[in-house]
Amino acid sequence: MLPLSVLEKAASEMTNYNGSGMSVMEMSHRSKVYQEIFDETKAGVKRILNVPDTHEILFMQGGATFQFAAAPLNLIGKTGKADYAITGNFANLAAKEAKKYGEVNVAANTEDRNNTYIPGQADLKLSDDASYFYYCANNTIYGTEWQYVPETNGVPVVCDMSSNIASRPIDVSKFGIIFAGVQKNMAPAGMALVIIDKALAGKELPITPTIMNYQTMIDKDSMYNTPPCYTIYMLGLVAKWIEENGGLEGMQKLRDVRSSMLYNYLDESKLFIACADKEARSGMNVTFRTADPDLDAKFVKESIAAGFSNLKGHRKVGGMRASIYNAMPVEGVEKLVAFMKDFEINNK
Ligand SMILES: *Cc1c(COP(=O)(O)O)cnc(C)c1O
Repeated sequence: MLPLSVLEKAASEMTNYNGSGMSVMEMSHRSKVYQEIFDETKAGVKRILNVPDTHEILFMQGGATFQFAAAPLNLIGKTGKADYAITGNFANLAAKEAKKYGEVNVAANTEDRNNTYIPGQADLKLSDDASYFYYCANNTIYGTEWQYVPETNGVPVVCDMSSNIASRPIDVSKFGIIFAGVQKNMAPAGMALVIIDKALAGKELPITPTIMNYQTMIDKDSMYNTPPCYTIYMLGLVAKWIEENGGLEGMQKLRDVRSSMLYNYLDESKLFIACADKEARSGMNVTFRTADPDLDAKFVKESIAAGFSNLKGHRKVGGMRASIYNAMPVEGVEKLVAFMKDFEINNK
């Protein structure tokens, strides 16, 4: 979801942005009016995520998946090796991609229990000569979330935050690279937000495509080629909305209200079962099921008829998944819990 007020603002400016006589969709990315939009978005992201001056903010096309290749191409050359914690589908895809460019050490793999948990710090098998350590902060499909930032003894941390970016405060200085496809929590589809410690750029493998080269993107301020102009504009509006709603502390409060409402009910329900271990539960994607796949299918079918969208679990795990990103109103979760309670009474 995107905040309704953001969509309405965009609609009101759709054909004539700020008296320019043009839609943002029609502007040259080199024009003065667009440069202002771009600069405002970047400044807004810097403020809400509290990005230190050591780090650069980049807007790159290709989504999060593009970064699965960009991160190793830019960083793995240091020692030829990287550590990956594989806690779900997207971390697994990222590790597969990295293997094309260097040696991947699996620091953890949670597949043994169908990715229902997050490894503890002591369980991570870190190597001393890794160029970087990689993990995915929130496992969108499995509904697990890291509740700590791993200690890596000076090895740069690369983190995929696609599905929990901007949902709670983070200490950006602990990360070498944070990236996120913006479409889950921040803007329409079309790009990744990348936050990179500038000291890590400029050491890419010689085969790195120019479009993937972080140093080039830093030097060109994300405009090596035409950027996704409209998505950047929308990201700026969402950043403003986040600021008006209490910043990341405000987002965290809302996130806790929404997710605890669902988890509290799941814990007391005799019908529904929460899929993820308690300590690993995601504040963004709540995965649950009943003991019977046919009943799960019935629930999904009836939920659609009742006006709920996208409650069917990912095909890899089955069951159900409620994605409750930043813009989901608390009221939406209240309605879902009421619907689940009714379903439980009717299917005893
Ligand atoms: C959705 C998602 C991706 C894939 O994002 P694209 O922008 O489609 O490439 C990667 N990682 C995580 C954690 C996701 O949730």
